[in-house]
Amino acid sequence: MTHGISRRRFMAQCGRCVLACAGSIALPAMVSPAPAMAFRPKKGAIGRTLSPYFVPLDDKAVQCTLCPHECEVAEGERGLCEVRENVNGEYYSLVYGNPCSLRADPVEKKPFYHVLPATTSFSIATTGCNFDCKFCQNWEISQARPEDTYNIMASPQDIVDMALRYDCASIASTYVEPTIFAEYMIEIGRLTRPHPLLKVMHSNGYINPEPLDDLCRYLDAACIDLKAFTERFYRDVAEGRLQPVLETLKRLKRHGVHTELVNLVIPGKNDDTDDIRRMCRWIRDTLGPDTPLHFSRFYPLYKLKSVPPTPIQTLEMARNTAMKAGLNYVYLGNVPEHPGGNTYCPKCGKLLIKRVGYRVTVTGMADGDCRYCGQSISGIWHQRKPA
Ligand code: SF4
Repeated sequence: MTHGISRRRFMAQCGRCVLACAGSIALPAMVSPAPAMAFRPKKGAIGRTLSPYFVPLDDKAVQCTLCPHECEVAEGERGLCEVRENVNGEYYSLVYGNPCSLRADPVEKKPFYHVLPATTSFSIATTGCNFDCKFCQNWEISQARPEDTYNIMASPQDIVDMALRYDCASIASTYVEPTIFAEYMIEIGRLTRPHPLLKVMHSNGYINPEPLDDLCRYLDAACIDLKAFTERFYRDVAEGRLQPVLETLKRLKRHGVHTELVNLVIPGKNDDTDDIRRMCRWIRDTLGPDTPLHFSRFYPLYKLKSVPPTPIQTLEMARNTAMKAGLNYVYLGNVPEHPGGNTYCPKCGKLLIKRVGYRVTVTGMADGDCRYCGQSISGIWHQRKPA
């Protein structure tokens, strides 16, 4: 079975920009201009929605309870992510309903390799992030304030309607850290339930347990950046902490959310073999050997322009270390045409899914199992049934 052949799906897999972060709008040739014209990007368009995730403090200050930073914010000020503001002793999200980036992407770009292969994911982001990673690909929006970007006003129902109109199989919260637009993401997830749409996210996992529980009610799959296995890396390179991310991963497992992990391997920062081995053993023992793990190649950018790209041998070392530790699905990302981008059956070793860039060929799967030996392959292989 080969996916991605029809013209419509091919266009979808190329990734269609509905609204770019810099504010330029590219109308996809395949889609009537009417939907996009109804959502004109406007610089600094801001929403203001009361957040349930704060506690009041003295003198009209508040403490945000959304992520482990737990910012204490004085009246008139914002938290570290710059998208939450204390107005007269109440805490508001400034990014509920005003995304700055909308794209129809291949689901493999998130990257999900075990979620409806060769389908399209309607991908959204607002400005802001609760980390400041020195290697961020999307720093123009992740480190911006919402008044600095071109945004559209789009309700959660508008996002669901656009995803259906664009023939997407899922809605992804991605590009920046979606925790910082949690209320928007949760409502979008709730509204997907009457439709055959998955709700997925790519996240750094830096979220507190209560909002995570709220999120998991409407979340089918999560791709979590496990950026390194040392607190030092999280502190020095990402301005966060590792332990809360590990707690998030355990909680996602308890909720039954399909989870894939991404580890961007950066030369000299997180490529120590012993650390990678410890990380892989933790994944095996805590999340299970069927958890897909993606080792991704680093390219110099943002604040790490002087660090060279990851050598292929380093990535292969990481993959071998993970497989020796007992992980069944270990991938290499950002390395075109490497066999480490394919899915193989962990029991009989046969090729199940071949990937060349975003061209995906499913050759060895039958109803979620290996068609050669019948081994069950972990993941989401069928469209969700509407609730
Ligand atoms: S979500 Fe933003 S405001 Fe809230 S604790 Fe995290 S960084 Fe601070």
